[in-house]
Amino acid sequence: MTIIAVDGPAASGKGTIARALACHYGLPCLDTGMLYRAVGLSVLKAGGDPDQEADALGACDFDESMLDDPALRSEAVGSLASRVSVHQSVRQSLIKRQRDFATQPGGAILDGRDIGTVIAPDADAKIFVTASVHIRAQRRYSDALAHGGHPDMDSLIADIQARDTRDMSRDHAPLRTADGADLLDTSDLSIEAAIQRAIALVDAQLEGRRKV
Ligand code: C5P
Repeated sequence: MTIIAVDGPAASGKGTIARALACHYGLPCLDTGMLYRAVGLSVLKAGGDPDQEADALGACDFDESMLDDPALRSEAVGSLASRVSVHQSVRQSLIKRQRDFATQPGGAILDGRDIGTVIAPDADAKIFVTASVHIRAQRRYSDALAHGGHPDMDSLIADIQARDTRDMSRDHAPLRTADGADLLDTSDLSIEAAIQRAIALVDAQLEGRRKV
């Protein structure tokens, strides 16, 4: 069984890298941010307050079909996800689902914020993907333009900074580089180069473990 943990801040490229690793190693992949996004969107739909733990916890048994809702991908829902994810009981209620996915026969790749630290601290390989705030905002900007949006660079930068601060400073499972994780800064890398680097890092970690 091979478990690969991919963590990192918003818009770092970790999702793209996790999916490419999944394809390369033939493993199933779970974007754990979608679970928190589904909780955030459910709170909104129920008219609850994402900052109230009871409201956020009540949204954790969201309907499975919500995971296919394209609205989950919006910046606004990302921010709601970041607000509900500070609550310990919300994190707790999503743990089993993530661990079951990680430990399925053959293993899996999970990407998120606390995979290498909390969900799968014994993962066979761990990568922490990052990029400068400006580059991450630039990627979001190009993405929004490509989808016919009218993005504003300053507000994208402000959103990313607010999300980084909240994710890194929360009491429970804050975003940080896990012990044993390799850092992959994608600021100056093309998508293809970042993927090749990620594969090289994972190969080296898997090889290192085989030798122990
Ligand atoms: O990765 P994504 O941007 O979709 O995540 C949305 C939010 O969900 C993050 O900003 C973070 O607050 C939360 N999250 C988390 N733990 C994870 C995945 C996401 O707290 N494993």
